[in-house]
Amino acid sequence: FHPERTVVSVPTADGPIDIGGEGPLVCMAGPCSVESEAMILETARRVKQAGARILRGGPYKPRTSPYDFQGHGESALELLAAARTATGLAIVTEVMDTSDLEAIAEVADIVQIGARNMQNYSLLKKVGQQPKPVLLKRAFSATIDEWLLAAEYILAAGNPNVILCERGIRTFDRQYTRNTLDLAAVPVLRSITHLPVIVDPSHGTGLSQFVESCSKAAVAIGADGLMIEVHPDPARALSDGPQCLTPDEFDAAMANLASIALAV
Ligand code: PEP
Ligand code: MN
Repeated sequence: FHPERTVVSVPTADGPIDIGGEGPLVCMAGPCSVESEAMILETARRVKQAGARILRGGPYKPRTSPYDFQGHGESALELLAAARTATGLAIVTEVMDTSDLEAIAEVADIVQIGARNMQNYSLLKKVGQQPKPVLLKRAFSATIDEWLLAAEYILAAGNPNVILCERGIRTFDRQYTRNTLDLAAVPVLRSITHLPVIVDPSHGTGLSQFVESCSKAAVAIGADGLMIEVHPDPARALSDGPQCLTPDEFDAAMANLASIALAV
């Protein structure tokens, strides 16, 4: 039993970033994968200017095909650390394997568990035993109870700082969107859990043209934050180009979101 909402506080050089509770909307933004030093530094600077406080980006990518780009690994992790030093942004990045956790948790301010690993219970236990906050993405076909029980693995292992991320689920129509963004999950979760909830409209829709409208809806329905993919040149992205906003598009989306965030 837990009557108060959990506020996950991420310490940074510019002061703590609070996710959940009554604080302002927190935006995590950046590329799908960390491709090069120039692109991660440029993206970091631009998303920070636009108002994001947390930089996302994957050195380790869980790709559906083994023949697709798998991420640059350790060298990209160092680039994320460099981007944090250069901008002061906090870092969220995905861990796929328990053997990489220690190195990732050294750089990450928030450790991400991707949709494909939501029910990787040995990984959940391990992230539960380390102190960095955990962003737990919903699996493609997970019910809300399965998702909350996955979160429970992390909490039960000793880590109280879990953020839930709705990123779209698999339904019958994949012609117009990559996934079906389950926005109703936000108020549902609000009514049954104390954990903060954010929304990822990039993976949720799979198409950049729908990211801003779904971000607005997510804010209006009560999300504590957003995760948005931004790439300096989406057409050349090594992964998820079609759903990445350009830095200019991200600027516009953040400006348009501000009025909604103030209104709700
Ligand atoms: C990601 O955020 O980089 C990612 C792979 O997302 P998901 O696990 O939601 O597919
Ligand atoms: Mn992606």
